[in-house]
Amino acid sequence: MTALLERRWLAWVQAMAAGRKDRKMAWFKREKKSIDQATPPEERRVRTEGLWTKCENCRTITFRKDLEANLFVCPKCQFHFKMGSKQRLEMLFDGRWTEHDAGMTSTDPLKFVDTKPYAARIKEARKKLRMNDAVITAEGQLNGRPVVICAMEFGFIGGSMGAVVGEKVTRGVELAMDTRQPLIVVSCSGGARMMEGTISLMQLAKVSAALARLDEAKLPYISVLTDPTTGGVTASFAMLGDLNIAEPGALIGFAGPRVIEQTIRQKLPEGFQRSEFLLEHGFLDAIVSRKELKSFLASSLDLLMN
Ligand SMILES: [Zn+2]
Repeated sequence: MTALLERRWLAWVQAMAAGRKDRKMAWFKREKKSIDQATPPEERRVRTEGLWTKCENCRTITFRKDLEANLFVCPKCQFHFKMGSKQRLEMLFDGRWTEHDAGMTSTDPLKFVDTKPYAARIKEARKKLRMNDAVITAEGQLNGRPVVICAMEFGFIGGSMGAVVGEKVTRGVELAMDTRQPLIVVSCSGGARMMEGTISLMQLAKVSAALARLDEAKLPYISVLTDPTTGGVTASFAMLGDLNIAEPGALIGFAGPRVIEQTIRQKLPEGFQRSEFLLEHGFLDAIVSRKELKSFLASSLDLLMN
């Protein structure tokens, strides 16, 4: 032991003498590499992202799984979060459903580029959501009643309506006609898809014309408006239902409030463009909370089918 210390002492003295100051104290200093140094800062925090969701209305933080089990409705204030199209269909159909036209994709007819190419936006959305555009058309049973449902997906480029959404909804209408089933469309959209220009605007007329034929065929169409339903979707199929029903607190309108204020040069009233305001002013037939939506739709279908 003493011999070892002696050797180390000697080596240290020699090192000092050689001016190799970098090595000094190397034996006495512990190679201290704390967790803080070893772990990059972004990994130091416990990973909770995605596990908890904060309510936009009351700021209550809810465990994501609990929120999902509560149909994405805040357990404290009943705020209705946006719901994905797949979860929406799971909620409305009794078990399995058959999807139609799932493979339809946009051809980017204008080769549009804004801050990034439209083609890249589509690719990104397809990868993220594992669907090809912003709507799912499906048929199945709702509380034992056969029905065709189109559910829009806000996550896919803001639920915007381009050629694919317009065509899929139109085909949904035609499917309802061919099979003599009622139609439900759950809207959740920022409006027409700007990247498809006039082609997206043409969808308004196409879907509306198809819905007129559904009406002639005496088949009911129920429109469910969820947060948000705006622009070209409000200006076409979302407001054309035999029944237009909305979820509580949903933003529903054509242009945004700022544009309207600037155009008419008037201050808009409180709650303007929310479901409750629209119901009061006769634009909607009912506001139905998400938990009651399925049973409400079932009894409405009974009423309309007879
Ligand atoms: Zn809340």
